[in-house]
Amino acid sequence: MSAEKVCVVGSGPAGATAAYFLWQAGFDVTVLDGGLGPEPEVAADIADWHESQNDENLVRAVGARAANSSLKKPDLAEKLFLGSGFVYRDTDRVLLETVEGADIRTSLALGGLSNVWGAAALPVASRDTVGWPVTQNDLAPYYERLGEIVDISGEQDGLSAAFGGNVSTPAFPLGQQGGALLKSLADYHDALAKRGITFGRARVAVGNKYSYQSEGCVSCGHCMIGCPHRAIFNAAFVIESLQGRDRFTYRRGCVVGRVAEEQQSVRVLGRGLADDAPFDETFDRVFVAAGTVSTTAIIARSVPGRGTPIQLRDSQLFVFPLMRFRGIQNPAIEKTNRLAQAFIEIDDPSVCDRLVHLQAYGYNDVFMEAVKAKLGPVKTIAPFAINLLARHVMILQGFLHSDYSGTVELSLTRSGKIQLTGNPNEQARKIARQTQKQVMRSRRGFGGMPVPGQMLVPPPGASRHLGASLPMRASPSGHETDTLGRPAGLSRVHAVDASVLPSIPASTITYSAMANAARIVDQAARLSDSAI
Ligand SMILES: Cc1cc2nc3c(=O)[nH]c(=O)nc-3n(C[C@H](O)[C@H](O)[C@H](O)COP(=O)(O)OP(=O)(O)OC[C@H]3O[C@@H](n4cnc5c(N)ncnc54)[C@H](O)[C@@H]3O)c2cc1C
Ligand code: SF4
Repeated sequence: MSAEKVCVVGSGPAGATAAYFLWQAGFDVTVLDGGLGPEPEVAADIADWHESQNDENLVRAVGARAANSSLKKPDLAEKLFLGSGFVYRDTDRVLLETVEGADIRTSLALGGLSNVWGAAALPVASRDTVGWPVTQNDLAPYYERLGEIVDISGEQDGLSAAFGGNVSTPAFPLGQQGGALLKSLADYHDALAKRGITFGRARVAVGNKYSYQSEGCVSCGHCMIGCPHRAIFNAAFVIESLQGRDRFTYRRGCVVGRVAEEQQSVRVLGRGLADDAPFDETFDRVFVAAGTVSTTAIIARSVPGRGTPIQLRDSQLFVFPLMRFRGIQNPAIEKTNRLAQAFIEIDDPSVCDRLVHLQAYGYNDVFMEAVKAKLGPVKTIAPFAINLLARHVMILQGFLHSDYSGTVELSLTRSGKIQLTGNPNEQARKIARQTQKQVMRSRRGFGGMPVPGQMLVPPPGASRHLGASLPMRASPSGHETDTLGRPAGLSRVHAVDASVLPSIPASTITYSAMANAARIVDQAARLSDSAI
């Protein structure tokens, strides 16, 4: 019997996961994708860096490219890949009509937003899957199987009991600030535990699997501008690893508009990204992984009669500086990995009755540029102050559960384009302040205290952890889906990205969306006539 023909829409972390495990299960897999990639100069700069090992040249080239980009603000909202904005290109033209009161990024790139992500990857805690039709236990074997495509760096430590021990590769060396913070937290372990605070090494998707000469992280310190060494996981690497194999087809330049289920098949309809030419292809089964915004729109256009608006749920981001009592020497010249150094979980009902997740960052160029931009003209007269700040300051990036976060309403124009409107959650700001106070109360353990008055609570979407728009339910109705991500009324169409998570845990989103995608394709394979 010939292999069943399945389609995966999208090549971000969820799509690449679905494609890989479907291919492993013996299906004939076609990925239809926006497929944008970096300009040839980016590859040339990387090659030059490997050849010359000259960091200054790389940073100069990246800076020049970023300066010419329309997305050049030095803040996290617009993180570029080695100075290139290809990750976000064409999304305004093709997908989005308007965005109001929200901070949203979508992507039409090969690898999607994983080209620029922060790689923080913690499984969902079992207490955050209460009420889900799919529990942490159901996901556990799939976190394990993800080890075939993604390395997770970290250690077995205080986080392992609550989140599982999915650490597949040794942790990279910490920066001075990260090491000092973890040490002071460990010194006050018992006192912090009484306040519901647990902590450990950050779990980040960094390793040698796809890295240049399999070296893994080489501590070059360029993490925030884009890893030139391929040590930070990018879903594009999974797609590249499948290209050229039998039963695998990757088609870039496709913008899927909707799907139409027929008796034994599904039609996938869309237009070319470059030429707007219509396409209409038929598959046995379709897995939609176009990122929460795009997937929700594709499903909304495909299920007649249910209409929009549809609510996307956010995991509220908040950011504040931690002024450490003891400074370190010259953080700017330190060449260590600059991704999240430590994860700190707060489980204290006086702060929030859901877990609050904090990621601690040491000195990094992107944060410092943002601080300098905020200081404005003062920065030119205060290099000493900036240097002092860099030696003492760490950044705590907090995330809340979607129960206490804003939402983004998605509706479609008559032509099918997407309109997004943010609705902040007033409780979020209060919980962010409670968290800051908890850190203040625990200042000995943190070895420092929050800087008074400094707290950033951006609009919904800024966390980039959006989902739960088509939530899986045991008995789905409306825009809900079953435990295989199928909207009510469809049996061969599965949504497989964060849009189907029943809620968004604070503890990062992508890793759990990938585990759930692996689970759905595994179980859907058993429904298929010709699964091998
Ligand atoms: C700066 C930044 C930092 C982040 N840091 C973290 C982090 O540390 N930890 C974490 O968990 N998450 C993080 N995220 C979020 C993370 O990147 C996303 O959750 C993740 O990439 C979503 O994966 P996805 O596969 O669902 O979709 P995406 O990555 O959005 O990919 C979408 C894919 O679908 C394709 N596509 C879109 N629309 C269509 C269409 N109509 N037709 C065909 N193809 C289409 C695109 O080409 C792309 O391949 C971050 C995001 C950003 C921007
Ligand atoms: S330090 Fe960062 S940029 Fe450099 S190899 Fe390691 S992960 Fe990549």
